[in-house]
Amino acid sequence: KPRLFSGMQPSADSLQLGNYIGALLQWKELQSTHDAIFCVVDLHAITVPQDPVQLRAATRRTAAQYIAAGIDPAQSILFVQSQVAAHPQLAWMLNTITGFGEASRMIQFKEKSQKQGADGTNVGLFTYPVLQAADILLYDAEIVPVGEDQRQHIELTRDLANRFNTRFGHTFVEPEAVIQKETAKVYDLQAPTNKMSKSASSTAGVVWMLDEPAVTAKKIMSAATDSGREVRFDSVEKPGISNLLTIYAVLSGRTIADIEREYDGHGYGDFKKGLAEVTVDTFSPIRARTLELLDDPAELDRILAGNADRAAGIADATLARAYDRMGFLARA
Ligand code: ATP
Ligand code: MG
Repeated sequence: KPRLFSGMQPSADSLQLGNYIGALLQWKELQSTHDAIFCVVDLHAITVPQDPVQLRAATRRTAAQYIAAGIDPAQSILFVQSQVAAHPQLAWMLNTITGFGEASRMIQFKEKSQKQGADGTNVGLFTYPVLQAADILLYDAEIVPVGEDQRQHIELTRDLANRFNTRFGHTFVEPEAVIQKETAKVYDLQAPTNKMSKSASSTAGVVWMLDEPAVTAKKIMSAATDSGREVRFDSVEKPGISNLLTIYAVLSGRTIADIEREYDGHGYGDFKKGLAEVTVDTFSPIRARTLELLDDPAELDRILAGNADRAAGIADATLARAYDRMGFLARA
C-alpha cells in the first residue's frame, strides 16, 4: 500500500465542518487503501502564541475528533508531532539546505507575517514549511492529501528531498500532493464567498463539529440564502444555496441533482430543514464519541503514546539515514 501522510493543527474548541469534509472524511476513505499516517501538528501551532494549558487541551480534543470521525488508531498511525523528536531534528538539517529567498517566497508566510507585522512574526513561522517538509520526508510518504493552499509547501518539500538526495545520496522519497477537489470546499454559512474557517472573524457561519445538535440546526436554518426560491446549484448566482447543496451531497452521499429533484417546488425552508437533519445525524455520533474519549484522557494519552512509538520507529530510522549521509559522527 502506498504510504500517505497528512496533518492538521490542533484547534482550541472544535474542528469545523470544512475540516470534516475537506480533510477527515477523505482521510477516513484513504486509510483503507493506504498505509496512512495522521499527525496533530502541535509544533506548527506554536508559530502563533498559544496558552500552554489550552494547547494541551486542544491537542487532545483534535486527536479525539480524528478518532471519532473514523480515523482508526489501530489501523492508521495517529500521533502528536511533538512526541516524535525526529521532526524538529530533521527540520534543522533541512533548514540548512533551504534558501533564504526560497523560504521568503512562501505565500502562507507572506500572508501571515503581513498580518502580524515584523515584530509580531517569529522565525518559527518563517521555517514552518521546512518543518512540514520534515514531517512528510521522515515517513517516506508518497502521497500527501492537502488543500489547494498547501500546494506550494509540498512543492518545496519535493525540492528539498531532491536537493538532499543529489548532494548526499538517495535518502528521501519525493512526495506527490493530492489536491482536494473544489467540491470538497465548504464556505461560511453567513458569508458564502469566504471559506469556512476556524479563525474567521465571526463564527456565526461556522458549524463546529462539537456544537450541540440544536445549535447546529439553528446555524443551518439561519444560513444566508440567495434571492429567488429555487433550490438549484449555481455558484455564481446562488453561492449560498450552492454551498448548502455541496454540504448536503457530501454528508448524505447523494448527488446534487438528486437533492435538487427532491426539493423541486419546495422553498428554502424545507431544504434547510433537510440539511439540518443530515448534518445533525452526521455530527451527533461523532460528538458523543469525542466527549466519551475526552472523558478518559489517560486512555486517550495511552493510545497516542502507542502511536507515537509506531511513528518514531519509522521516523528514527529515516533520521539516522539522513544523519549518516550528512556526515554526523555516529554515537558509539
Ligand atoms: P485556519 O483558519 O487556522 O486556517 P482552518 O479551519 O482553515 O483553520 P486548517 O488547519 O487550515 O483549518 O486546515 C485543516 C484542514 O482542513 C486542511 O486539510 C484544509 O484543507 C481543510 N479545510 C479547512 N477549511 C476548509 C473548508 N472550508 N473547506 C474544505 N476544507 C477545509
Ligand atoms: Mg486554513
